[in-house]
Amino acid sequence: MDKTLYIVIGCDTDPDRPGFIENLPVDGLSWRGMLEGIPRAKEKVKSIKDSIGNSPVFSWCLRADYQIKKIHGSYNYILANHKEFLLELEEDGDELAWHPHFWKDDENGKWYQEVFDLDWQVNMLKEAFAAYQNVLPDRAKSVRMGWDFHNNETFGTLQNLGIKVDFSGIPRLKITPKNKNIRSVNFFDWSLSPNHPYFPALADYRRNAKDNESIFDLLESPNFISKSIIWGTISGLVLAKKMKDIKPLFNALRRPSYWINITGKSTLFAPLMDQVKRDFKYRDKIFFITYFHPDELLKNKSSLYSLKNMANNISSLVERVEHYGAHAKFIQAREILNYI
Ligand SMILES: [Zn+2]
Repeated sequence: MDKTLYIVIGCDTDPDRPGFIENLPVDGLSWRGMLEGIPRAKEKVKSIKDSIGNSPVFSWCLRADYQIKKIHGSYNYILANHKEFLLELEEDGDELAWHPHFWKDDENGKWYQEVFDLDWQVNMLKEAFAAYQNVLPDRAKSVRMGWDFHNNETFGTLQNLGIKVDFSGIPRLKITPKNKNIRSVNFFDWSLSPNHPYFPALADYRRNAKDNESIFDLLESPNFISKSIIWGTISGLVLAKKMKDIKPLFNALRRPSYWINITGKSTLFAPLMDQVKRDFKYRDKIFFITYFHPDELLKNKSSLYSLKNMANNISSLVERVEHYGAHAKFIQAREILNYI
């Protein structure tokens, strides 16, 4: 049987990040990455072809959530205000998906990730989705959650809204708040997840179902990670430092996991390609799920992320896969269901 690498390139279409891009306005949100970066990226990668001669396609995960409503006035502001731009991307073969964040503002106007109030999360997801559908009906069939965050309620809510594919997962990794008083960002838990698509156990979105256990109908298709011990340990160290906690390092030694955006430096992206080679030894199909942020496509303050890196990484991925005698195929996130 032929071996195939299905490549899914998602984009968390967030506003430009202060500290990452220079000269951002002090108030409000800036969308240069989306409006300038995306057309530039499309132009740059269109000469790259997969094994059947198609150019890369993207799944643009668009922001419709409480923060957008609070700052811009409506959940679907980005969709309504840039509808023509988005429909052109779709006509060119891309997918319009969804990237809801749980940004919430406190009494002092400080933004944080609401991880504890499940009713607030579920209600916001329902309202934002309805508003999304008002502007772009029948879209948002796939989702990448803000900060990769899920719990069983949010996962079930997406399923009930008719979403088909979630690709928020980062297998084996987790960052969780130490207690309920912590107000910060970037919390998620995928500690039990496999490195391939799965229908999660109804009892726990993070893992495969055991025998006779009920499952969600919503497919989880996590980001492709490397299980390299060296890279996983480095990643565990970084996480341990960030969390000021030794546990992530122990977890990394037990179940190593390394991941980087597709806009990352080629030397840092290479461990993911090595994992593809290892996985092809015992699998005919691999789903290479990856993502990036639009401000990484612009000139930025980091030395790690760029559009040039993304173009190099995509073409090296195809070249290497073909070198192994396998095929590479670009697909949208919602299409994963057609190939599992
Ligand atoms: Zn985001």
